[in-house]
Amino acid sequence: MTFSPSPFEKHTFRGREIFVKRDDALHVDFSGNKARKFHWFFNQEFPHVKRLVSYGSNQSNAMYSLSVMARMRGWEFIYFCNHIPDFLKEHPIGNYKHSLENGMQIFETIQRQEDAYMFTDSSDLVIEEGGRQKEAEFGVKVLADELKKDIKRSSIENPYIYLPSGTGTTALFLQKNLPFRVFTCSTVGGDEYLKNQFLELELNEKKFPKILSCKKKYHYGKIYKELYEIWLEIKKDMGITFDLMYDPVGWTKFLLHIDNIEGTPIYIHQGGLKGNESMLERYKRKYKP
Ligand SMILES: *Cc1c(COP(=O)(O)O)cnc(C)c1O
Repeated sequence: MTFSPSPFEKHTFRGREIFVKRDDALHVDFSGNKARKFHWFFNQEFPHVKRLVSYGSNQSNAMYSLSVMARMRGWEFIYFCNHIPDFLKEHPIGNYKHSLENGMQIFETIQRQEDAYMFTDSSDLVIEEGGRQKEAEFGVKVLADELKKDIKRSSIENPYIYLPSGTGTTALFLQKNLPFRVFTCSTVGGDEYLKNQFLELELNEKKFPKILSCKKKYHYGKIYKELYEIWLEIKKDMGITFDLMYDPVGWTKFLLHIDNIEGTPIYIHQGGLKGNESMLERYKRKYKP
């Protein structure tokens, strides 16, 4: 399987020129970022594999993309998560719902990683939480090569890349494969946590993307009115719907630093829009927007 290059667009936001790489439009059935990270797996034979095993959160974009891959390849898909709230079991929504529709078997356990490995035998393919593994570099390099062409075609001077990180895998492999500066921010843990994630994949700190920080701590998956507001402003201003887990934190931190970074920004839209169903529901319940 190959993907056609995703669109590359010029926009303005709050009076600034910003290019956006639309990986959200990469494939209808995959969450953009995860399609890149799992690209290597799509093209392997795996003659002995009958089951795909993974673990992570109950609304993960990775979980959904893996459920698509398993269905396409005729594998069972087994997934371990810590907890599924009763209201979600009774009213499935978002990635959880769509993954179940693709045949996912989901189990609740406190030790999701350990249990995923305990469960596994040699005929299973195990994928790390969020796709944080070295195989991800293959597809991220494809993205890097597209970006080089996009930048050349649009004659962008002094470009730099920005994208919010979860595991940091995408940002790290982009920096490794691009001659341009890559900036990112943490959304899951703090900045130290993100740096430790980079270290799991790369020992040379010189090759790390630069982390943009902010004083306020946003807890992963929690909802904040100001995050919803920035998401809405971007949607109205640029006409682009971003994801609600990573991007509002990503944009908030970016806007704090944008004036101090020289050059032309390129924001990577990493998809994840299926996850918005459940986030929007939660915002509606709390703030009735
Ligand atoms: C998974 C994901 C991320 C984080 O990617 P990492 O490689 O784990 O840093 C960011 N945005 C979206 C929409 C995602 O699905």
